[in-house]
Amino acid sequence: MFRQSRFLAAAAFIIIALSGAALIAFSDKSQTTHQTVTSSLGKPISSSAMEALIDRPGPTAIRTVVGADWKADLSGLLNLKDPKSVEAGFVDHEEPIQIYTHLVRHPTQGFFMIDTGVSKRFAEHPESVGVPWVLRNFAKMDKLQVREDALSAIKSEGVPLKGVFMTHLHFDHVSGMPDVPNDVPFYTGPGEAREEKFGNLVVQGMEDRFFDGRPAIQEFQFTKDPDGKLEGVIDVFGDGSFFAILTPGHTAGHLSFVARTPAGPVLLTGDACHTRWGWEHDVEPGSFTFDRGAERKSLLQLRALSERHPKMIVRLGHQP
Ligand SMILES: [Zn+2]
Repeated sequence: MFRQSRFLAAAAFIIIALSGAALIAFSDKSQTTHQTVTSSLGKPISSSAMEALIDRPGPTAIRTVVGADWKADLSGLLNLKDPKSVEAGFVDHEEPIQIYTHLVRHPTQGFFMIDTGVSKRFAEHPESVGVPWVLRNFAKMDKLQVREDALSAIKSEGVPLKGVFMTHLHFDHVSGMPDVPNDVPFYTGPGEAREEKFGNLVVQGMEDRFFDGRPAIQEFQFTKDPDGKLEGVIDVFGDGSFFAILTPGHTAGHLSFVARTPAGPVLLTGDACHTRWGWEHDVEPGSFTFDRGAERKSLLQLRALSERHPKMIVRLGHQP
């Protein structure tokens, strides 16, 4: 009797431990557990202060590099349930897309990147840099054709890379990280690293490995835009030449950027909008989404910004 009750207690303990482990394994996960700190760069300004400046030619140069051609399901890239998508009669298919990095040159601050493009090692030997089996087999990585890899793009500038501004931390945006030197700081929007969702289970280990040995991720600290036209704006270098705009929704801390170049303002939407059709028809991305309502609001805010500044060149997340 005594032995039997000890056996039952042990069995109960094992069942509780296993279900606890299963709960931990299958609960929401952050994108990365890497340390984060408040950014030492950038100060909040109002959208009206930014907009008073951006149509004046500025000192920042932007070169958009096509890191790779790729394909993704249209249902991920575009909300096919939006009435405009329904009216257009879209059916889900593999849509041609591209992965970009944008090289930012500032006359005194130096050379920065927005997103990381694609490393050859990531594309050609993904297992060697820790890309998990699930991504290698289900993310259409066999359709990834490298055009200008991240290492070539970084070397092309001929000066040290001072930092990387991330629109967000999805795997097709950190895919150039194996080519970024370990001491280069990374900047994100607030709460981006700790965005909790079940799907992050697949990528957290890879992202942690990409950030291993690097400085803490610097998170821009926005204040609410007093004009209410955007969520928040940061003057990144403090001289009115380059701005980060908080555009949450695609991910928790998604960012878009505006650069004042000699040819006028350039808006880099990041994945607030993936596709050209989505931009032209006000339809937000599809299933690759953290918070649809916020995502739609961010897209419409950027659309209104571009309408207020018709000369602004717009570069979208994954299509020219
Ligand atoms: Zn993307």
